[in-house]
Amino acid sequence: MRLIQSADELKALLADQPSTRACSCSLGGCAGWESLSEDRWPADQMQAVATLRNPELYEPTFEEHHPQGTRYDSAEAPVALKFFPYNRCELWRCGQCQRHLLRYTEFGGYYVDHRVRELSPKLDIID
Ligand SMILES: [Zn+2]
Repeated sequence: MRLIQSADELKALLADQPSTRACSCSLGGCAGWESLSEDRWPADQMQAVATLRNPELYEPTFEEHHPQGTRYDSAEAPVALKFFPYNRCELWRCGQCQRHLLRYTEFGGYYVDHRVRELSPKLDIID
């Protein structure tokens, strides 16, 4: 899978593959990080586009980056590629609405939790 390590690369990819349709699919908005279990993830229509996780980093940082005072689940939080949770995300594209979505998995003691956020072209993408 393609590896994306800079904000410029990610912006170029989004510019190349614009979202053309309003979303009507089962994923819903996902403006902040939404917990989306495997059975709500429409795997048939999702296409893996790239990974943001650097394979040479054994343990990416859990530090978050919010220069404008946003929080983890804020709809306006920037997409800060070197920080949690973007540093462990995969980028997916929905074949139905053409939106790009970021997804990563939280591992708890007895559960895994898939988190999804729409990569809206309106968001700030930073390194
Ligand atoms: Zn969709």
